[in-house]
Amino acid sequence: MTVFKPSYRLLFESGELAARVEYAVQSLGNCQVCPRNCAVDRLNGKTGDCGIGRKARVYSFMPHHGEENPLRGRNGSGTIFFSGCNMHCVYCQNAEISQERYGLEVEAQRLAEMMLSLQEQGCHNINLVSPTHIISQILEGLLIAASDGLSLPIVYNTGGYDKVSTLQLLEGIVDIYMPDMKYADTEIAEKLSGVINYPAVNQRAVKEMHRQVGDLKLNEKGVAEKGLLIRHLVLPDGLSGTGEIISFITNEISKNTYLNLMDQYRPEYHAMQFRSLSRRISQGEYLTAVKQALGAGIKRLD
Ligand code: SF4
Repeated sequence: MTVFKPSYRLLFESGELAARVEYAVQSLGNCQVCPRNCAVDRLNGKTGDCGIGRKARVYSFMPHHGEENPLRGRNGSGTIFFSGCNMHCVYCQNAEISQERYGLEVEAQRLAEMMLSLQEQGCHNINLVSPTHIISQILEGLLIAASDGLSLPIVYNTGGYDKVSTLQLLEGIVDIYMPDMKYADTEIAEKLSGVINYPAVNQRAVKEMHRQVGDLKLNEKGVAEKGLLIRHLVLPDGLSGTGEIISFITNEISKNTYLNLMDQYRPEYHAMQFRSLSRRISQGEYLTAVKQALGAGIKRLD
């Protein structure tokens, strides 16, 4: 059996990881880490749209057995749930964490201890949930964890409103990108998630992720080691633009993309204020989405 070595180990050994951490932390002084470009000084306690300042906040960390098969494997995905988000979905399924920002502030040392604890518990990866707005803080923690022996793949589990220049800072650090592709329509994205130009930003980000890591690769036990895994939540009344997103994936990314077409939408948070969002999707809506994916030639459908 080949022993997997995540690429950030090489960057750590060469000193490149430390250099990237320094750059990332300095960038908080005029934060334009994500497409919001708030330009606030987070080093001195100011906060922008995501509501998180100098320190990351963590709601919980644990082996997670509810993620996709290639991530959870036998021992679970080592999930760290970060508080705050750079998106504001009216139907958010985790609003206490992402919008109300429940959680505790953590220093880099504590974050590293969480990563190492998940490794000791046998998890297959470190799964960073909502990492976009706290990339700098995560890298600080990763540097310490790497120096103490962390060697699990890093999963970047994002809503997909990510900036290419920030993703480039993560090249060779993130092994598995798991972005959402939430919308194909700019106006719907703005109305339901408060994000400007989401489809174009999201598509550029997913292209960059795929350029870095390629299609999802599994080891002999079926556990993911590297690559891209896309999630798409099917919304009622076609609000998520499933057909267009599938066309983008097959035409611009790869028909070999691992796609999780999610059917678990339920009205949460402010969803009941929107007529279309006040119900779950029907079986027919989900079957239509599956047919669109299979018809377009997607081979790896979860
Ligand atoms: S990470 Fe937060 S403060 Fe920085 S640009 Fe994005 S939303 Fe604004």
